Amino acid sequence: MTALYDRSLETAGADALRALQWDRFTRLTRAAVPANRFLTRIWTAAGVRDPGDLWTWADFSRLPFTRKADLAADQAEHAPFGTNLTYPIDRYVRVHQTSGTSGAPLRWLDTQESWAWWARCWGFVLRGAGLGPGDRVFFPFSFGLFVGFWAGFEGARALGALAIPGGGQDSAQRLAAIETLGATAVCCTPSYALHLAEVARTRGLDLAKLGVRTLVHAGEPGAGIPAVRARIEEAWGARAFDHAGMTEIGAYGYECAAQAGLHVNESEFIAEVIDPVTGAPATDGELVLTNLGRVGSPLVRYRTGDRVRVAEAPCRCGRTFLRLDGGILGRVDDMLIVRGVNVFPSAIEGIVRRFPAVDEFAIEVYRRSEMDEVRLLVEVPGDAGAVTVRSVEEAVRVDLGIRVDARSVAPGSLPRFELKARRLRRVDA
Ligand SMILES: [Zn+2]
Repeated sequence: MTALYDRSLETAGADALRALQWDRFTRLTRAAVPANRFLTRIWTAAGVRDPGDLWTWADFSRLPFTRKADLAADQAEHAPFGTNLTYPIDRYVRVHQTSGTSGAPLRWLDTQESWAWWARCWGFVLRGAGLGPGDRVFFPFSFGLFVGFWAGFEGARALGALAIPGGGQDSAQRLAAIETLGATAVCCTPSYALHLAEVARTRGLDLAKLGVRTLVHAGEPGAGIPAVRARIEEAWGARAFDHAGMTEIGAYGYECAAQAGLHVNESEFIAEVIDPVTGAPATDGELVLTNLGRVGSPLVRYRTGDRVRVAEAPCRCGRTFLRLDGGILGRVDDMLIVRGVNVFPSAIEGIVRRFPAVDEFAIEVYRRSEMDEVRLLVEVPGDAGAVTVRSVEEAVRVDLGIRVDARSVAPGSLPRFELKARRLRRVDA
């Protein structure tokens, strides 16, 4: 069995883990209430006056949920950082923001302690992918306001690996840096890994001959989609690992060598899965997280909007942390209803990516007779376009039970993404 990041935590029994979570949650709430105005306000409104009133997990499960919209409203009202701050503003040393793919970006501040916590959380992620001292980890990332790979970079350093920044470079320069500096691992979005593969191909460079043996993906669920993973792994001659995190909550999910879905880091997060409509506990539903190490800007019972399914069987790797079967299945609010069939865009991606001829694709959703209809735009270089689109339509019909209209579009005409691919767009019919 490969080395774990923290064996005693990652293999702890359920009771020990719950006790550890409760201890850390208690310390968090004593620091944050009443100093943190955001948390204090929502708890007071829910009838919780003093953290000392919380005694049991049943008390915990009666605490109010926080939604992204609550954070956005707070930041709009108290610009620029909102009121979810436990300490005076001069205690904070990092600021980042969400990508803004759904509405105005959220800004998030970290203290020295919580920034070190981010690095620790990424240590679990990178170790899960088998990385450690001696690895050279390349980050083809712009190092702007988006937090994800900043924290990954810190995590690589904290783990003792060589962290290589790939900002301020185009894709060709990044490929050259990977080769020259002898990178053994690359951290990027799944979309960008595929884009780099495309650039390498046009330049006659065989990625599989580079020394990269591991890819760690974040920012999108793609690496958890088998067809996407297979395509990345084939192009790079490397193993691709999935990871999940959010600017506002932290780096919470990672894969192990068994690659059997995502483990949730339960030493740093309390995880719940709920029915998104009723809020009742569920095994297939929305992931709700509480982070335990970001005392300066904590989130308690945060509704991530991510749709997940709990795996029942223990993982072969020996970790006892919760495992999410198939990783993040999609966004709760991304679900399309096509002629009465519930469809996640990730399910469509999983089918399209099975066709090696397809370089890039987009999903257009439009309304006809008050119903969602799906049109797929696919880029197929060469002259296999017509045959491929018919095959994609047929595969979607067989696998998902819906009819879609697939069309071939000119190679290079669809957008490529470094971060947060947006392949779904709503259009007029
Ligand atoms: Zn595992």
